Amino acid sequence: MSLFSRPSATPLDGVDAVLADLDGVVYAGPGALPHAIESLNRAGEKRRLGYITNNASRRDSVVAEHLRELGLEATRPEDVITSPQAAMRLLRDRVPQGATVLVVGGDGLVHELEKAGYVATRSADDAPAAVVQGFAPEVGWAQLAEAAYALATPEEDGGIPWIATNTDWTIPQARGIAPGNGTLVSAVHTAVGRLATVAGKPERPIFDEAVARFGAERPLFIGDRLDTDIAGAQAAGIRSALVLTGIDRPKHVLAAPATSRPTYIVGDLRELHEPYPEVRTKGELTSVGRSSVRIDGADIVIVEEGDRPVDLLRAGAAAIWATGRAIYGFRVPERLYADPFHRP
Ligand SMILES: [Mg+2]
Repeated sequence: MSLFSRPSATPLDGVDAVLADLDGVVYAGPGALPHAIESLNRAGEKRRLGYITNNASRRDSVVAEHLRELGLEATRPEDVITSPQAAMRLLRDRVPQGATVLVVGGDGLVHELEKAGYVATRSADDAPAAVVQGFAPEVGWAQLAEAAYALATPEEDGGIPWIATNTDWTIPQARGIAPGNGTLVSAVHTAVGRLATVAGKPERPIFDEAVARFGAERPLFIGDRLDTDIAGAQAAGIRSALVLTGIDRPKHVLAAPATSRPTYIVGDLRELHEPYPEVRTKGELTSVGRSSVRIDGADIVIVEEGDRPVDLLRAGAAAIWATGRAIYGFRVPERLYADPFHRP
């Protein structure tokens, strides 16, 4: 490094609250991901740490206890923002406290409703003022039918509000991929012809709830999915880091649409604490660290592979994104989306 170049800032410089997704960022299955716990604990020495989860079936206190068991020792229930809590934020804007609300979901959702000052019911016969729907393993036809009865009147004809905690299509289980809340919301939608208002990622309410709770002025959101985590943070005006320890892989990063491009790309959470190299452009050349690529018509040419795969990916993504062209129009060398990163 020459006398005249400033060392680059780290992704955490100036950040007052780190907000992290859980699955694929903190843990995968039963265990913590490599380097996640110590990197987050270190990030939390100087700023607030919060956790954002679309999962509506676990209470904040249960999530906090799980995180403490994994080694995030200082985690309290109020550090966890769940999609049912974000749903309460939406409900407060539409329905006065004390009203009766039909629940499709589990105890976690009933708990949040009562905490927010509402009366929970399971029957459309109780003339509910709204329907709130979240995932629980026991949700079946009988609960979905109650929602359909309560939502029979279209909203424009005076029908009641319908709020979904989240619309994840699937939910990973030990035996495979199972239908998630989005699939169950879709069943009601098909029956009544109405659309739910959604609280969880990638919609804004869950991010707004986190920022408001922590009074964060310069938060950083960390996620592993472009279409929910990164798109949601971007829509909420929050800087984001995509970590390559979960769902999305380098090829997805290169192809990311303009609405879901992270501020930072990291291989694992240690890199939050490392200087983040700037993107340099010189003529046709786009460089990050010792890696350089050049766009030549439909070809993306690797000029210098460099010594860090993540820098080559960062350079490739910056070059492709800057063109404003869709990924389908390019011939991309395989080395550019090599995937030496940790996968759960
Ligand atoms: Mg995730």
